[in-house]
Amino acid sequence: MLIVPEALIADLVSAEDAFTAVEATFAAMSKKDAYNFPVVREALGEGRQYGFKSGLDRAGAVLGVKAGGYFPGNAAKGMINHQSSVFLFDPDTGRPQAMVGGNLLTALRTAAASAISIDRLARGDARVLGMVGAGHQATFQLRAAARVRKFEKVIAWNLHPEMLPKLGAIAAELGLPFEAVDLPGMIEADVIVTITSSPAASLMAAHVRPGAHLACMGTDTVGKQEVEAALVAKARVFTDEVAQSVTIGEAQHAIKAGLIAADQITPIGDVITGRAAGRKSADEITLFDGTGVGLQDLAVASRAVERARERGVGQSVTV
Ligand code: NAD
Repeated sequence: MLIVPEALIADLVSAEDAFTAVEATFAAMSKKDAYNFPVVREALGEGRQYGFKSGLDRAGAVLGVKAGGYFPGNAAKGMINHQSSVFLFDPDTGRPQAMVGGNLLTALRTAAASAISIDRLARGDARVLGMVGAGHQATFQLRAAARVRKFEKVIAWNLHPEMLPKLGAIAAELGLPFEAVDLPGMIEADVIVTITSSPAASLMAAHVRPGAHLACMGTDTVGKQEVEAALVAKARVFTDEVAQSVTIGEAQHAIKAGLIAADQITPIGDVITGRAAGRKSADEITLFDGTGVGLQDLAVASRAVERARERGVGQSVTV
């Protein structure tokens, strides 16, 4: 098996690679060529979360699991809070094929999912990008969003305002003016990315203008929430996987409150394959509930392994 350590990933997989790989994965899910296994996610106490996301892509011959989670004490120790590793197996024999550092890959595949939703669902004339959240993932989200629309300005809110300058620096790098706003100020945004670990709604229906697209990316566990359930109910809802959206995604709260039903949520893969319509009018609010599926991790890890093999990097071990 090949070990591809975290330090090699930046040279092996680009944001563009992740976009292409994740889009193909969502399409494979729509065609039922690929499916995710149920997520295992456990609370370890003190805010730590640990679990497994796994799946099988029959068409791509990819089988594997991402093991990892969220450890909020890491930042104080000089590490990022998200920590994960991806393991790939031969789908015919079950033999281990690779172990791949999953931290950067997680950020790339998560940002790719949100960018795919913006690409497919946001209005073509979107000019103001709103960011809710300014942690580790937010920087990747901002870069990925900027690749799919011609934004002219970034506005941002974060519960911890001292984190905003880091996001502002990315906007400056991209040549975009950056402004810190309060939550009602998000009304100016054409696209809003939410990427926080919040346990309660920050963004309310009154903060979102008609025609906006929301990529809600932070809620990936029971009990997290970034936007008001009434806002989810007001929007046309899309997701990576309906089963995850209604249980661990942003839609869990609107579902629990009986405001929407699972069959009102459209897999983004169906939009990509043309099986479902995307945005239907300039004024409707579209909302992508990005829960993060195992197949996304396997897709980008496979890309890393492919490139590592081509370049003769990584470490081969017999297990
Ligand atoms: P981080 O720890 O670097 O940043 C956390 C962010 O949440 C910061 O902006 C912080 O200010 C904000 N925050 C913390 N507590 C809050 C509260 N009570 N109310 C509002 N905001 C609050 O984390 P990160 O790596 O950037 O991850 C952000 C979230 O995204 C986490 O919940 C993580 O689990 C989730 N995530 C989702 C996916 C996916 O595929 N959907 C992938 C990776 C991470």
